[in-house]
Amino acid sequence: MDAEQLRENAHKMVDFIADYYKSIENFPVLSQVQPGYLHNLIPDSAPHHPESLQNILDGESPNYFAYYPSNSSVAGFLGEMLSAGLNIVGFSWITSPAATELEMIVLDWLAKLLKLPEDFLSTGQGGGVIQGTASEAVLVVLLAARDKALKRVGKNSLEKLVVYASDQTHSALQKACQIGGIHPQNFRVLKTDSSTNYSLSPDSLAEAISRDLTIGLIPFFLCATFGSLNSIVSAYCFIELVMSDALFAFMIISFNLCTEEDGASKNEQPHPELEFQLAEETSHLYVQVGTTSSTAVDPLLALGNIAKSNGMWFHVDAAYAGSACICPEYRQYIDGVEEADSFNMNAHKWFLTNFDCSALWVKDRNTLIQSLSTNPEFLKNKASQANMVVDYKDWQIPLGRRFRSLKLWMVLRLYGLENLQGYIRNHIQLAKHFEGLVAQDLRFEVVTPRIFSLVCFRLLPPHNDEDHGNKLNHKLLDDINSTGKIFISHTVLSGKYILRFAVGAPLTEWRHVNAAWEVMQDKASALLARLSI
Ligand code: PLP
Repeated sequence: MDAEQLRENAHKMVDFIADYYKSIENFPVLSQVQPGYLHNLIPDSAPHHPESLQNILDGESPNYFAYYPSNSSVAGFLGEMLSAGLNIVGFSWITSPAATELEMIVLDWLAKLLKLPEDFLSTGQGGGVIQGTASEAVLVVLLAARDKALKRVGKNSLEKLVVYASDQTHSALQKACQIGGIHPQNFRVLKTDSSTNYSLSPDSLAEAISRDLTIGLIPFFLCATFGSLNSIVSAYCFIELVMSDALFAFMIISFNLCTEEDGASKNEQPHPELEFQLAEETSHLYVQVGTTSSTAVDPLLALGNIAKSNGMWFHVDAAYAGSACICPEYRQYIDGVEEADSFNMNAHKWFLTNFDCSALWVKDRNTLIQSLSTNPEFLKNKASQANMVVDYKDWQIPLGRRFRSLKLWMVLRLYGLENLQGYIRNHIQLAKHFEGLVAQDLRFEVVTPRIFSLVCFRLLPPHNDEDHGNKLNHKLLDDINSTGKIFISHTVLSGKYILRFAVGAPLTEWRHVNAAWEVMQDKASALLARLSI
């Protein structure tokens, strides 16, 4: 690489990104393009000759309130830049002692900020590792738990192993079970409802376990969720940005498909506008419009005790809300994590760290290593053979790995705990403010108690006509998002179509929340007026 070329192009790129953030509010938050639009904008084949620097990066608009946030920051960006610049592939300690040891240290720092039990620190039998995503984190611990269980009960018992989770658990667990060879009928999705604010009831877990034991099955894995995103919905959302002669930027958010019925009641004589929705929904959505849910918090202590007394692995998925636990007032929600065997949180969601950075801690690193390690001749080296070092290749699926701890290290150092706490608290205050706005408008209702920075709400169907409630809110969501001014998403809870307003984009301020609410009120008024014709 030519150092001067790097300097020149990197300056251009930084200018581009800085200008982009300066003008980010001028772009529509939700793309208005049609599928396949990009084919018309870029050539069919890769260029034969080099081109000039035209790439752009993508960031999160302050008007983005959908799903959960995916954060970035200057600190995270600088760490990412450094990582790209150094291009270190530290799969074994020997390939980069700095990458390995910094990751251990930074995850110990973060574990201490979260007040995780000491067993999770690298100074004991446990330790932390950065995975690309929470899905990978859940997969590797499921594999470790499976192999640990099979060691105990015999290799031929795979068909008998049972996994437990709630219907609010992220579909990442289902995928992990598929990959891990868990028999599809042995994946217990336990029902939750509004009586427990959609958290998993220890009684229903205990009952399910005892039923399975009676028929000779082997309970081995429990996944509890802390602040869950139930992603049973399938939506590929491309947020694009077309700028002058720059090529493209996009972000893809994907969620998995649900097959469960949402229980929406059938409508006899809908308003024509709603009739259209019904037709559309029956084709792909009302099989299950799907659900990005409500930040439910499972009771970790009670669930953990049950898991422990049945010799099961207990995993806590705190992908979104884990970040909030750096604030003492939110740490109580993971009381009971002491019982867990593993815990994960996505620093790339709500912790100002650029994607990808999913932190995973385990209490017993040897279980992971026993499940995932390989030791080919070409990777052998003195340090590894002497068992003196951590080789992160044995804690993950791939061999190669990036120097991801740099960006987390930058975030922790450049913000400090105080500012990070302020960041989280500010978003929670903004969500609380939005919740108050919704509560004041009697045409709406807040559906589940807000705990963190997500508000679940809906437009009440006029005359309590619940038959139309789901379609009404679906239509409202479409109307709101088609303005291009804000972007929100939805879920289904207890058969009701719910709107979700998730605060968490780094640039969101009070004015954005107020403006978003104005858009929603305007669209609700217009919709109600149209329907009353
Ligand atoms: N678990 C929870 C609770 C989530 O909210 C999410 C994503 O939103 C995931 C898992 C999956 O995250 P990832 O995309 O990092 O695999």
